Amino acid sequence: MVVREEDFRTFREDWAPEDSLDILESAKIMGSYFTMGDIIVMKDMDARAKSIWKNYLEGFFDKDHQIDERTAITIIRYSLTISTLTHEIVHSVQFPEGFKEFEEKFKEKNITDKDIKNIVRFRALAECGASYITNKILKERYTDIMPIGIDPDTEEVEYDPAEKRIKFFGHMLNKYGENAYYVFFNTKPDNMSNESFNNLKKDMFSEFNSQVLADIGIIKEDEEEAFDQLAD
Ligand SMILES: [Zn+2]
Repeated sequence: MVVREEDFRTFREDWAPEDSLDILESAKIMGSYFTMGDIIVMKDMDARAKSIWKNYLEGFFDKDHQIDERTAITIIRYSLTISTLTHEIVHSVQFPEGFKEFEEKFKEKNITDKDIKNIVRFRALAECGASYITNKILKERYTDIMPIGIDPDTEEVEYDPAEKRIKFFGHMLNKYGENAYYVFFNTKPDNMSNESFNNLKKDMFSEFNSQVLADIGIIKEDEEEAFDQLAD
């Protein structure tokens, strides 16, 4: 589903009001997957592509030689649409970790520090893995794509917005092999006991300390201390 920039927030407020983590807070988010209804909602990339061109890129191109405005906007729009859709489709096939339980506990005001830590860490793994897989698919299948995004803090254009997340999942793959994918998709391999799978999850989650989380943009730098103070 494609909505106008200003309708994105309204939709989310109506559709997922219990979204206590404010995952979609950032005005720079391009789209989102909602488990309820199993839908992907994307902002209108046409307006966004025009704004990226006007505000950030037009000045960088030598208009005599390089690219005309219409072609440029088309490439930007295509890049944003394909990369956002691919990323969100990858999320849509993950089994969410503990969100139902978290919602219940939230309603009962019964959330522990550990629950918060786990949910932040699962989200970190989800973003790193989805960015890694998306990057792989785009590199292999859509070579015309410009990896482009807006830095939520500086509001500047980033040419490789998910680079740190992609690298971090690469590190997980080196260390945990294909088990990294099993934990990412939250699907236990048949030949593994529940206990081993839970331990594996724990080990992988613990890779996301507050410094890593801030570095890959899951928490803000001034939230590091608060994260560390949550009990394990
Ligand atoms: Zn994502």
